[in-house]
Amino acid sequence: MQGLMMDTELQISSILRHADRNFGDREIVSVTADNPLHRYTYADCFRRTRQLANALGNLGLAAGDRIATMAWNDYRHLEAYYAIAGSGFVCHTINPRLFPEQIVFIINHAEDRWIMVDLLIVPLLEKIADQISGVEGFIILTDEQHMPETTLKNAISYESFIGDESDEFDWPVFDERSASALCYTSGTTGDPKGVLYDHRSTVLHAYAGAMADTMALSSKDCVLPVVPLFHVNAWGVPYSTLMTGCKLVFPGPKMGDGETLYQLMEQEEVSLALGVPTVWLALLQYAESVGKKLNKLQRTVIGGAAVPESMIREFRDKHDVVVMQGWGMTEMSPLGTIGTLKYGMESLTPDEEVSIRAKAGRGIFGVEMRIVDDEGKELPWDGVAYGSLQVRGPWICSDYFKLDGAGGAHTDDGWFDTGDVAIIDQLGYMSITDRTKDVIKSGGEWIGSIEIENTVMGHDSVAEAAVIGVAHPKWTERPLLIIIKAEGAQLERDEILGWLEGKIAKWWIPDDVVFVEEIPHTATGKIRKIELRKQFADYQLPS
Ligand code: AMP
Repeated sequence: MQGLMMDTELQISSILRHADRNFGDREIVSVTADNPLHRYTYADCFRRTRQLANALGNLGLAAGDRIATMAWNDYRHLEAYYAIAGSGFVCHTINPRLFPEQIVFIINHAEDRWIMVDLLIVPLLEKIADQISGVEGFIILTDEQHMPETTLKNAISYESFIGDESDEFDWPVFDERSASALCYTSGTTGDPKGVLYDHRSTVLHAYAGAMADTMALSSKDCVLPVVPLFHVNAWGVPYSTLMTGCKLVFPGPKMGDGETLYQLMEQEEVSLALGVPTVWLALLQYAESVGKKLNKLQRTVIGGAAVPESMIREFRDKHDVVVMQGWGMTEMSPLGTIGTLKYGMESLTPDEEVSIRAKAGRGIFGVEMRIVDDEGKELPWDGVAYGSLQVRGPWICSDYFKLDGAGGAHTDDGWFDTGDVAIIDQLGYMSITDRTKDVIKSGGEWIGSIEIENTVMGHDSVAEAAVIGVAHPKWTERPLLIIIKAEGAQLERDEILGWLEGKIAKWWIPDDVVFVEEIPHTATGKIRKIELRKQFADYQLPS
């Protein structure tokens, strides 16, 4: 027997209509390339979003056509998110930090018809314009007054593009499984792969992100997403915050600037901020250097890479800020786990609490996870066994865009293989120990490079650390520790190796240490291990 409930499509435009009705006076504050502090309300935002939808309607696009954005976090980018997807087109967010040849590849692969581009990113596109000739025109995210001289074809300022349009627009109703957004993963090898989100997955993911034991969003929150809108929909924040009526603060091009982040947090009374560990390093360093405390911030979600314990402690001890570590990936919309505490954990000692928060978190309803061995046999959640981490659920990709099953990441029984290696404890808290392809195999046993890196990062004299496997005649591979020293710090090989004793398994202690000025990163801030392995391919270990 069928139930008797209404068949209402879960569409992104429904979030906008709800937010408009219920929280019209809520503020959105942005730093932009043409305005150091722009401020308006949800009602203003949605009025302009409807104007933009009307303007896009004049371009002769068909449902499902891709319109790209290449922009920092600000209000115009948010308007683009809602107008593009709400109209039935696909918002293809492009990471401007990718290598130019990757950007060319993904624009052509996605067959983007128009690109909305931030003022500051125009020169980058001008350089590759002759290789992306399929793009019909460019909307520069600024007003007429700040419009640059540009060689980009059919370039128009955003404000002129929407200026004369009506602010009335009926959001079309369509199948909730229609594509809404596209984001390419910036893998370290091979061509980037497109992950195609749909309206249903986006709305369900936004509900999950807002829940009390996830990010606990409410209309009383003021949220600062430092995580970029161009990377995995800024972890779903543009949807979950509008669903719940949070005030939003966007840092624009200033996302790496500790001082601006600090000032925005204090002045706008930000209660929750989200970003990758590197960004918070900049903020904490700034606060430390000027002797200031974060007075308003209550909690932060940190993910995208492992969060060092020292960062969790610094936020807590110096700023009274709770760190919630999250894990996920582009293919997962991205939320998979989050490190909130469970019932019964109220009486943990501060150290016990840090050790839980230093894990990648526990499962969110909507994401099933399992760890399996090399033969695909499921392993226990016992805090000891490690294996390949696999997931499934309604916001996890079932295939890559235009790859027709050739992505190689799905199992025959319908799970997505994340490429991460993990341990899950009895309480369901998961820890990432490595990427499958980065695992160091020593004497037939796995050594978790990420776990060693996390521990090393806890040393005061270390700014950044990476661990890779190098060839060893007896053990096949042994770990080599690569360190960037903290500014002005003195650190010797034997000192750091001695310090590690007792903190990690004895046989995991690296065989040698090299000090470097720079560690290569991907466009999303992850260490390029493949590059490091090449660089140190002929490294002779002392043993
Ligand atoms: P991306 O698709 O670029 O967001 O990258 C996803 C990958 O980032 C995951 O597969 C992990 O390898 C890594 N990652 C994300 N969050 C964490 C975390 N909390 N700890 C360790 N690695 C993480």
